[in-house]
Amino acid sequence: MPDKSSTSTADGDRPDESTPLQFDDEWEARASERLSETEFDTELGIELAKDAQRVVAGELSERAFHEKHHDAVRDEFGEDARLLDAVLTEREESDEGEGVASRVSSLFEDESSRREFVKKGGAAGMGLSMLLGSPDAGSASTAPAEDADAEDTRLGMVINLNNCDGCLECVTACKGLHGTSRGAHWIYVMAYTDPDLEHENFFVRTCMHCANAPCEKVCPVGARHTREKDGLVLTDYDICIGCRYCMVSCPYGANYFQWGDPDSPRQNDHFTHDERDVWVDGPPPNGAMGKCTFEPAWQDGQAGEKLVGTTMCEMACQRDAIHFGDLNDPESDPNQHLEEYRANHPNDRSEFEDRNPDTVSTFRAMEERGTEPGVIFIGNEPSVHAEQVEGPVTYEDKGLIDDRKSEILDDGPAGDDDGGELA
Ligand code: SF4
Ligand code: SF4
Ligand code: SF4
Repeated sequence: MPDKSSTSTADGDRPDESTPLQFDDEWEARASERLSETEFDTELGIELAKDAQRVVAGELSERAFHEKHHDAVRDEFGEDARLLDAVLTEREESDEGEGVASRVSSLFEDESSRREFVKKGGAAGMGLSMLLGSPDAGSASTAPAEDADAEDTRLGMVINLNNCDGCLECVTACKGLHGTSRGAHWIYVMAYTDPDLEHENFFVRTCMHCANAPCEKVCPVGARHTREKDGLVLTDYDICIGCRYCMVSCPYGANYFQWGDPDSPRQNDHFTHDERDVWVDGPPPNGAMGKCTFEPAWQDGQAGEKLVGTTMCEMACQRDAIHFGDLNDPESDPNQHLEEYRANHPNDRSEFEDRNPDTVSTFRAMEERGTEPGVIFIGNEPSVHAEQVEGPVTYEDKGLIDDRKSEILDDGPAGDDDGGELA
């Protein structure tokens, strides 16, 4: 696995022109609203979310992060199982580390116990600017697909936004496979306009499966974790207590909280557990957090060799927009697609950092935050002025709910999952 404590990218060190992360009142109000809907400490969640993002941005050490919040996390959760590289090794060697996950899990022996820790509340959506507007205005050069620790497998995607026509087939296919509840879109496609661009664009948001994931650093019980074999960032549903700290720490709005029982009964149990027999996929149980998984059981071969190395959204896309595979393998589909693209588009920003905004480019979303996202985009990078518009195919057209819309939010959470930051 890549060294997650590092803030370097494949390009070398992160750009040094970065300015410190800023969290404005709007961000804090939104985070506070989300966290106040749970029984857990709102202030602690906000401070953890801020500091975890400072850690991945290289502004705070993991050790300092751990020490600053250790007592408060233990007081609130009876345990501090945050998966921090800087402390994990010594924790494992100490009594504290023995069976952390199993001890935490035993606190919630059944679903009703878990539910006691969760309080229903309203959902709120966030605009495109919160996805694409970075608090760090520093520019970032485009990293090549291969990551620093190239001998390890790192599953990720190259998404060619130039090929996307907003058909939403990937969205419906993902929903069909995973049985996620109303309003939860693990892959989310949005059409947008941008004053800097002449034509309508699309942005496709999955979980970025960050190599330096703030969502993992804040999780007090160790439910959010990175899979050692391939870098997938997953949630152990049996351990997750629904504190929602991961949701407010994720800059990409990739998390969806499960209010109530899932709309679809659990199905296809075999594929909801990965080869470690950890329950990480399918609709989250009541009170747990869900997000895009990249189909870990498929990658483990449980669904047959044909599905190893692909995802449902990639299979559904008829426009050759989604390319999934090992970013550290030069021969993988995403790298081959990227190489072909770059060979044919010399205006790539990796060669021309001062590119004209209305030209083709490749980028990792909010790379300057140090998250080391595992999704590389081809196409225009939305500016902070981008505004979402209705696409050629609407969510309603597909029988889906886009719960960023106020009329849906007004319905409250009853029986629904919470929209993440974007949906
Ligand atoms: S994009 Fe995914 S891995 Fe990255 S911080 Fe958000 S939830 Fe975590
Ligand atoms: S909601 Fe679940 S996965 Fe997210 S931080 Fe809380 S316990 Fe961890
Ligand atoms: S299926 Fe492909 S073309 Fe259609 S919205 Fe998804 S990524 Fe875009």
